[in-house]
Amino acid sequence: MSYFSIKMRASLSGKHISGSERIVKEEDVRNVIDQLLKRPKIFDFMNIKIQKVESIDYIKKSLDIMSITFSDFEKANEFAADLINKSTGIDKGKIEEYIRMIHTGASPDGEVMRGAMVVNRKGERIEMDKFRGVRTTNVDYRDRERIKSILLGKGYTERTLDALAIATKNLNCEYILAEYCISDDPNYIHGYVATYGRYIRLYPLKDRGNTKGGRIYFVDDDVNLVKLYHYLENNTILIEDLGEIV
Ligand code: AMP
Repeated sequence: MSYFSIKMRASLSGKHISGSERIVKEEDVRNVIDQLLKRPKIFDFMNIKIQKVESIDYIKKSLDIMSITFSDFEKANEFAADLINKSTGIDKGKIEEYIRMIHTGASPDGEVMRGAMVVNRKGERIEMDKFRGVRTTNVDYRDRERIKSILLGKGYTERTLDALAIATKNLNCEYILAEYCISDDPNYIHGYVATYGRYIRLYPLKDRGNTKGGRIYFVDDDVNLVKLYHYLENNTILIEDLGEIV
């Protein structure tokens, strides 16, 4: 059976407003293009790229999912830094420093990075390009609609579905120990830490109104950056089932 990768990005007045990717069977390509076309309510530019996938690796289950609510975003970030410190051994002060950078714009120009920052156990920031970071792509669910309906039924959203796919691909990588994420959408203040086989959704993880956001991938010191980038950007992954909802 042939699979195709479909990637959509749309912008308005030169500003990125929507992006999405799917990996689907050949017979579903038309349907999915139709869905993606309707995704941004308004746009003046859209690019849809369709490419046959040559080989696929399967991950049996996504990370397990749990949610924790805090009284404010500072307490949630304190929890996040503690958890990452426990699972990686990285100095807590360093972790807090990088988290702060994500909240204020981690690119050297003070803007949001397009991809993730990479930090090793020594606490060094090691991504190849500090403006771009590394982007996790080419991941989807084998039966996206089924997983989506389970998650929506449990009060989660399509954002969770997409972020869970990214985090599951990330933690499946031999080098990645933990991930931290907040959106750059000023009205979306949920975030997550993925580690110990879990996607831990934290609310609120950022201050409402903050237009900055980003991801940090915490990796082992023996990381081979070329292999890490190759896995995250090029290996095509389909996730077969949902982990536990704790
Ligand atoms: P989002 O969850 O789409 O709001 O993304 C939050 C932030 O994570 C963005 O501002 C980027 O810095 C980063 N990011 C978005 N997509 C990816 C990706 N596919 N891989 C790595 N980092 C990403």
